[in-house]
Amino acid sequence: MSTNEAVKRALSYSSWPMVFFLGLAGAYFAFTSDHPVGAFLAVYASAVFALFLLERYIPYEEQWLQPDGETVTSLGHTLLTKGLVQLAALASVIFPMLTASVLQPLAAMKFDLWPSDLPMAVQVLLAVTIAEFGLYWAHRIAHETVFFWRFHALHHSVVRLWVVNTGRFHVADSLFKIALSQIPLYLMGAPLPVFWWLAAVTAFIGILTHCNVDMKTGPLDYVFSTPRLHRWHHSKELPEGNTNYGENLVVFDQLFGSYFNPNRPSSVNIGIKGEIAKGFLPQLFQPFTKEGVRQIIGRSTKDN
Ligand SMILES: [Zn+2]
Ligand SMILES: [Zn+2]
Repeated sequence: MSTNEAVKRALSYSSWPMVFFLGLAGAYFAFTSDHPVGAFLAVYASAVFALFLLERYIPYEEQWLQPDGETVTSLGHTLLTKGLVQLAALASVIFPMLTASVLQPLAAMKFDLWPSDLPMAVQVLLAVTIAEFGLYWAHRIAHETVFFWRFHALHHSVVRLWVVNTGRFHVADSLFKIALSQIPLYLMGAPLPVFWWLAAVTAFIGILTHCNVDMKTGPLDYVFSTPRLHRWHHSKELPEGNTNYGENLVVFDQLFGSYFNPNRPSSVNIGIKGEIAKGFLPQLFQPFTKEGVRQIIGRSTKDN
């Protein structure tokens, strides 16, 4: 084996744990620094860049390196979703009336159930697991009902997987997921740092599951949502695609029977049967018109 091949092999085994644990170590330094948000974004950007390079060095599928014309729309949906969450936080500062009449009664509903005395690592593990229950069902419902599929189809409409697809979600899809996964934690009284850590874990696992890097994840496939499992989830074939709904962990796929990890290379035939509009704004509005929904679910006006 040449040195180059040996390096590639070593990277294919080590890159998942390396990106994940270095990412979390970076997050630790960011969260304990004077500029937690800026520092975290720098760590996150470095991880994205590392995966971008690995995609070129050890791609899972060579063809997925070719542009598909959806890079700009994917980045647009990423920024809109992240921006909206920031805006919601900002709105509560700008409109004190709204805060007083809507948010404060909500805040008062908190129950003091959260085990704040446990070590932070245990609290984060607990939060990731509780959030996963909401993420799992939000995702499964998004695949198994037409009402929610109309929003989630955008994420699956791409024909190649790479790190930039991570944030390609319709904003309505994202809000549904955030609501189901974070409201339970909020009601239990989880403190703010727990939400930060949940966001960090989700951010790093998210870029890992979507990257086009030939990662050998072996035993990790039984615990985490890995690129291998998530490629099956993006398969165009429904029996393969309607599986592996886990966002961070696969414990609920195992419990509720949707875990899928056959002993063969995971699918490269990805995408959906329906059709997604071209362009950022048309994609945003498509789920809100009758004709748009028909296109998304792949049914023409004639044979309705
Ligand atoms: Zn999905
Ligand atoms: Zn995905």
